[in-house]
Amino acid sequence: MRSAWSDEDAAKAVADYTTRYSRTCNEDLALRTYTSRLIGADPRLVLHGGGNTSVKTQLRDELGAPVDAICVKGSGWDLATIEPPGLPALRLGPLRALRALPALTDEEMVNALRIRLFDAGAPNPSVETLLHAFLPHRFIDHSHADAILALVDQPAAEALCADVFGGRLAIVPYVMPGFALAKLAAESYEANPDTEGLLLLQHGLFTYGASARESYERHVAAVDRAEAYLASRAARRHSVGRRPDVAYRALAPTLRGCLGEEGRRYVLTLRTSDAIRAFVDDPDLGSLALRGPATPDHVIRTKRHPLVLDGVAGREAAALGQAGKFGQLGQLEQVINERLAEYRGAYRRYVEGQIAAKGVSRTPLDPDPRIVLVPGLGLIGAGQTEKDARIAADIYEHTIEIIRDAEGAGTYQALPEPDIFDMEYWSLEQAKLGKATAPPLGGRVVYITGAASGIGAATARRFAAAGAHVFLVDRSAEPLERLARELRCGHRVLDVTDARAVEEGLWCAVDRHGGIDGVVSNAGTAPQSPIADCSAETLRASLEVNLLAHQWVAAGATKILRAQGRGGFLLFNASKAAFNPGEGFGPYAVPKAALVALMKQYALEGGAHGIRANAVNADRIRTGLFPAEMVEARARARGIDPDAYFRSNLLGREVTADDVAGAFLALALAESTTGAVLTVDGGNIAASPR
Ligand code: ZN
Repeated sequence: MRSAWSDEDAAKAVADYTTRYSRTCNEDLALRTYTSRLIGADPRLVLHGGGNTSVKTQLRDELGAPVDAICVKGSGWDLATIEPPGLPALRLGPLRALRALPALTDEEMVNALRIRLFDAGAPNPSVETLLHAFLPHRFIDHSHADAILALVDQPAAEALCADVFGGRLAIVPYVMPGFALAKLAAESYEANPDTEGLLLLQHGLFTYGASARESYERHVAAVDRAEAYLASRAARRHSVGRRPDVAYRALAPTLRGCLGEEGRRYVLTLRTSDAIRAFVDDPDLGSLALRGPATPDHVIRTKRHPLVLDGVAGREAAALGQAGKFGQLGQLEQVINERLAEYRGAYRRYVEGQIAAKGVSRTPLDPDPRIVLVPGLGLIGAGQTEKDARIAADIYEHTIEIIRDAEGAGTYQALPEPDIFDMEYWSLEQAKLGKATAPPLGGRVVYITGAASGIGAATARRFAAAGAHVFLVDRSAEPLERLARELRCGHRVLDVTDARAVEEGLWCAVDRHGGIDGVVSNAGTAPQSPIADCSAETLRASLEVNLLAHQWVAAGATKILRAQGRGGFLLFNASKAAFNPGEGFGPYAVPKAALVALMKQYALEGGAHGIRANAVNADRIRTGLFPAEMVEARARARGIDPDAYFRSNLLGREVTADDVAGAFLALALAESTTGAVLTVDGGNIAASPR
């Protein structure tokens, strides 16, 4: 690892931050921000909000008097993207005075920090703030670097680290972050005043220095030394032979369906690489994977252990190469449920055991795994959001490398259960997970066709706002890509009349999220012709889009929903034309009427699987379906202007694409409704379903 320091970039950062944050940011804080970002930019050093940094400087109080201050990373900020406000300032003198206390509870510590903030609205400073404050150095950097963890996660870590680093880093035995660790770290430094930093066993690395550059470069040098040492030892070669391949598409929906109990839903994210595959195929996987997280912080993201899901190879084999055909679904589900039951049982025993042993009262967290290791495939991250699933997977990908290197240098050994439990059930760690109540479609995956514009786009936005992970398809690439960027979601350009493309599109959603929970089959066209004069070509084309395409979507989705075994919903965009045909609209109305029959058929046959089918019957929405000239002609024929045409309903109000999207959302959430048509037309008795 090399230093990424650049004099030019440092000077630019100082000029930029002190201009943009002229009231609160001085040169010290600007340089602190610059090197914090250098550390944050390297995933070998920190991942997803891990690590923290500080600077001691002088600021002025309200009266203009100089005050000694410490600026420390605040919670909710990520070192990779931190800005000066992400390092809230605290009064240093009173923080240092706290060291005289014999003890301080976590809650007392958080309060002691908050009342010494310069800005009452600042985020909570890092839980490691007192450690930074008790050390005398101006700049301090802390990371959980992979190479360092490979050396400190060892039974013989102390001797090994003394060997690798000589006397450059003082060694601090494991103590949970908080007041006690802050005092111990300060004592370790004072006993070894010539050091460049501290190695916290089974936790990570601190370095310090008189300047931002010195502390940062000492950090990089320590990690570089660790990397060089590990490279000189042959890393563990995980597997000799590969285990039989497991097909993700055949596994994922069943796994996803089994994963959450009591309505909890997870989205999955698959990771494969040679390194991951070698790890999951390792004959010792069972032992290696059950040793625990590389640094205690990780436990809230990955749980203490992954679920090792072996025994699935072959049981999903019937599905190999023919996505969607679950020949031995029952057996696959059985194996997954058995493994999950063992996992959940072990988790509950661990939590109950620790609660009893410590004599504390805690509310157990859900017992579901966040990492699933599948021999023959790779690692799967699970989370209630795609972001959570990815964070878990990222952390475990690094854990695999740490284990490999640690085993090369000796033996990988994580913290024992009681310490991991303290971290997992620490109120200050739990706070990082946020307390927001789950949105109505949290953890759900919804596939939407015709999503690039009009009702489809409005529906995509509504469902995303309700917490769903939407996957959008449309044949218009450019607007589809724009919307997918806006909603940060998956998409695929396809024509819904191509049955194979539709099925492949559904499996792409499975690749991305592990399954689906519902579809909004929305794409349509509106050809016009007197029915007797309608060409076979026009009628067939309309039947393809307005009827058969809905069948391809619903049939493909049903296979996946059945494999998940958790129910789901099929929503169709029927039209007023299904109930109230308009003159000259036969080629449109006929397939739409058949679409309502299709919906009822799915309601009938899907009910036993918990799959609900419903339709929305909308009318006179301003979308691209009907060209402006046509609307104008129809309005003129009625002797009104186009705006009045859109308001000509019982309520006298224009119905928007968003109103229709709201109806789809309501049906998606209506757990006891199937086989229904919901009318969204402002009121039109002639068109009401009967
Ligand atoms: Zn830490």
